[in-house]
Amino acid sequence: MAPDAGAGSSAGAQTDAASGTTTKLLEVRSPSDTRVIVGTVPVATVDDVDRAVEAASSAATAWAATTVDERLALFARIADRIDAEADDLDDLTSRENGSVRAIIRRELHGAAAAWRGIATYLADRLAPIEHEGPGGERVRIERRPFGVVACIVPWNAPLVLTCNKIAPALAAGNAVVLKPSPLAPLGVTAICRIVADVLPDGVMHVVNGGGDVGEALIGHHRVRKISFTGGTATAGHIVRQSADGLAGVHLELGGNDPAIVLDDADIPATVERIVGSAFRRAGQVCFAVKRVYVPRAVAPAFRDALVERVDAIAIGDSMDPDAEMGPLNNPGQAERVARLVASAREAGRDVRELGRVLTSAQLAHGHFLRPVVVLDAEHDDALVREEQFGPALPVIAYDSIDEAVAMANDTDYGLCSSVWSASPERALEVASRIEAGMTIINNHLFSPTGSAQIPFGGWKRSGIGWEGSPFGLDEYLQFHSYDVQVLA
Ligand code: NAD
Repeated sequence: MAPDAGAGSSAGAQTDAASGTTTKLLEVRSPSDTRVIVGTVPVATVDDVDRAVEAASSAATAWAATTVDERLALFARIADRIDAEADDLDDLTSRENGSVRAIIRRELHGAAAAWRGIATYLADRLAPIEHEGPGGERVRIERRPFGVVACIVPWNAPLVLTCNKIAPALAAGNAVVLKPSPLAPLGVTAICRIVADVLPDGVMHVVNGGGDVGEALIGHHRVRKISFTGGTATAGHIVRQSADGLAGVHLELGGNDPAIVLDDADIPATVERIVGSAFRRAGQVCFAVKRVYVPRAVAPAFRDALVERVDAIAIGDSMDPDAEMGPLNNPGQAERVARLVASAREAGRDVRELGRVLTSAQLAHGHFLRPVVVLDAEHDDALVREEQFGPALPVIAYDSIDEAVAMANDTDYGLCSSVWSASPERALEVASRIEAGMTIINNHLFSPTGSAQIPFGGWKRSGIGWEGSPFGLDEYLQFHSYDVQVLA
């Protein structure tokens, strides 16, 4: 059974008067007020998935034959269209996803940047490599597309996660069939329509629905590569489902990111940035700070500053310009976070429910939670060990850096991490001991250079493969090499 089928959304149907065919519709409800239907998308059938993959397969050869310049010219048009339609895309995505509009606007800039950034490295990465040998042999190594790539994305940052996949997949010369999450399909479908509009016919397709539609897509025999972003448990289904066809799998999964604060870190500045990561999108970010390690001597000052800052967070409807934090996206997510907070309370921890509710009457109908900090969490607490993916942050005191590093690494995940110190060199030494794909010093959000250059991805159960940056392009390419010899 698909884990997310129907959660937070409901189905209707629409019958075409002329043909008499009935299409199942997925109704997307606002997480800020579940009485409001934000929009609908048609649910794809197995036949729809088959048609999309076959059409993509037919279009793939001609698309692979286009030049780098032709692709980049089309990508520039896509980015411009995203910018031009930003107000509508922001509205739609904020209302369906629940993240506040200002955050979605920043996400949309990232989505447009995914198309423009490729121009800086595409020609270099696709250039063939040539060698000549003493016997007159010539070797040529080319990077070639797979044909059809299936992309599956989650609901939490849907626009940028979609563009971070489909832009490199298409840039590499593949055709793409993408399945959005049923919990936030509207903005993604709108962006993919722009892409399909600009690119040659058949190169870009969207199929909507839950896990069953995803399974039909990844099980299709013409799909040669699967790129998935989502939960670690779902990734297990993806790998099993793709086993028969042996398509390549690229997985961007969950995280339980540690932030290790050293004893010389500036406390107010550190708290400001940790809160900016941990409670952004109500904590529903794969690489948010999910646990904070603080030296025992510094812990009282850190806790006081944290409580003061988190208490100032304004909670409201995602479209309210005064809201810093909106609702959680869906009831399952809200229940999960509430369970982890309840277990901290049962263990007798110092749990603080904080924040300012802007209009409480409105909030009665949404999936709202207040931001929570747990000031004296312990290593074995469920909130520390599991990915909460929500607005609840545990703080753990440590006695030595060795102990902090050991606790930070004692997890199945290894996505991102951060170290905070007045001395970047000291922080880098600690960072080098963390088992993770990425470590940020003195922040838990990337700098502009980091966003453009760092291959995004994780160790252990946080993923297989890398996204974004020049390295991410390689996920969508395979080698074709030639060894041209001379007949004596
Ligand atoms: P999810 O795994 O429930 O769903 C992700 C996508 O997979 C959705 O489109 C869903 O419909 C589809 N799906 C579900 N079951 C499937 C199946 N059996 N076969 C094929 N497709 C199937 O994840 P979610 O709840 O949407 O997202 C939250 C998770 O994603 C968190 O764990 C978060 O950390 C992770 N995430 C990771 C990154 C990253 O880049 N590493 C980014 C964002 C989110």
